[in-house]
Amino acid sequence: MIDLRSDTVTQPCKNMRRLMSNAMVGDDVYGDDPTVNELEQYSSVKHGFEASLFVSSGTQANLLAILAHCDRGDEYVCGQNAHNYKYEAGGAAVLGSVQPQPIENLPDGSICLDKVVAAIKPDNFHFARTKMLSLENTIGGKVLSLDYLKEARAITKKYALKLHLDGARVYNAAVALNVDVKEISQHFDSMTVCLSKGLGAPVGSLLMGERDFIEKARRLRKMLGGGMRQAGILAAAGIYVLKNNVDRLAEDHENARYLAQRINELPGFDSTGYEVDTNLVFLDVDSSVDIQAFTEVMFSKGINITPGYQGMRFVTHSGINKEKIDVFIDAAKTYLLVS
Ligand SMILES: *Cc1c(COP(=O)(O)O)cnc(C)c1O
Repeated sequence: MIDLRSDTVTQPCKNMRRLMSNAMVGDDVYGDDPTVNELEQYSSVKHGFEASLFVSSGTQANLLAILAHCDRGDEYVCGQNAHNYKYEAGGAAVLGSVQPQPIENLPDGSICLDKVVAAIKPDNFHFARTKMLSLENTIGGKVLSLDYLKEARAITKKYALKLHLDGARVYNAAVALNVDVKEISQHFDSMTVCLSKGLGAPVGSLLMGERDFIEKARRLRKMLGGGMRQAGILAAAGIYVLKNNVDRLAEDHENARYLAQRINELPGFDSTGYEVDTNLVFLDVDSSVDIQAFTEVMFSKGINITPGYQGMRFVTHSGINKEKIDVFIDAAKTYLLVS
């Protein structure tokens, strides 16, 4: 299968599987798993935080961050397109009684910081208490500039808000900017990283922040049923990908640019309205294409894509290379020109 649906579809490589099967493990709920402890320590040093927590998913990491920073009746400001607002089943509101205050994302993925300031509620019993600003990097494949992060830090300091980064794909941002990940993480009170996206681990995310914050998150993780036992088998994969799979993200970005360019050879497909910063390719498909039929025919030829018209999305990852992109383009051309 040539799978262009997401960078979550990667398969663990042989070296990763070997490390996983040989990992020293213990009961992590007792704090006994040496491999989980190694991953959490390594993460803290690598990302410049006091402490880290290994969790089951990016969704859980974001939820823990919101619940640990905010109490019932508090609110967090985020982008209208933020994953932790739009794509996490409303967890902060459902499970934490924490209200999101979304603000439209600009085309570059940022949120206007003047609008953030304007959205901060006065200290008055009519209002929810504004506690935190949540940014996302990359967002829709876009990289937030380091200057923007600096401004966001200054604003949140001035108004005593916590600053959280949903960094599911923060390594794609760091590689695209050609900077150490700390250049990004230094601005935040807390940050998440997905080990299971482009980095290629089978399961797991990290949440990091100050020690007290992580201890609070550890209690909340247990409450949510997220305490894992011999989780070192999974943590071993996390250590592996942080040490081995960061630099290769540049290949995914190059392949995404190549795919974005070649997709315009297909009648009815147009990626020219979208810039490719990282590993996500967006495009429009016009109504001359029966996208459902197209998707089914591609599937029958071993190519898996998600159907969609406006803002259709392809994602590159370690299972995709230029040859596979060529196979996809050729199959698509053959079908579109004949049908
Ligand atoms: C995928 C993703 C998440 C959630 O990660 P899961 O492990 O799928 O729960 C959170 N934020 C962003 C920006 C993501 O892309």
